[in-house]
Amino acid sequence: MGPIQKEPKMEPEKGDCTDHSGIWDSPGHEKIKIFLWQILWNSIATKENLHKRVPHINQYCSFCPLTHESADHLLRFYPRASETWKLQTNQNFSHNRQSFQEWFRGNLKNVNVASHGIPWNVFFAFTLWHLWKRRNNWVFNKEKSGKERVV
Ligand SMILES: [Zn+2]
Repeated sequence: MGPIQKEPKMEPEKGDCTDHSGIWDSPGHEKIKIFLWQILWNSIATKENLHKRVPHINQYCSFCPLTHESADHLLRFYPRASETWKLQTNQNFSHNRQSFQEWFRGNLKNVNVASHGIPWNVFFAFTLWHLWKRRNNWVFNKEKSGKERVV
């Protein structure tokens, strides 16, 4: 694998003093960066977030009837997500006690080379993206992709 070409940086808006450098330094597609940005600002279209704007929308996970579908649930603790993390990275996040934002930011700053010679933060971002796309497939094409199918 050759050196990864850096894409032009998208800078956070002026006046925003938090450190998001982990996101903007990680190579990757723009759509993934935008996705990461939405996670950071908790604006991804999870059912919990949609419910805040449109109260009649059901805020529960499609598979765990008692749990709100938050980004944290969907991307970290949801059994299918933690299974994916475990399979792909051999890491068990289900006992992780960091807040979602700590977990998310910490992983995005980790540039150590993971398996396959890819920096951990890139691998992490792509796995989040994969989990989100898989979730959207379930939600929007339920009849096409069987519930039990693992992409
Ligand atoms: Zn769930």
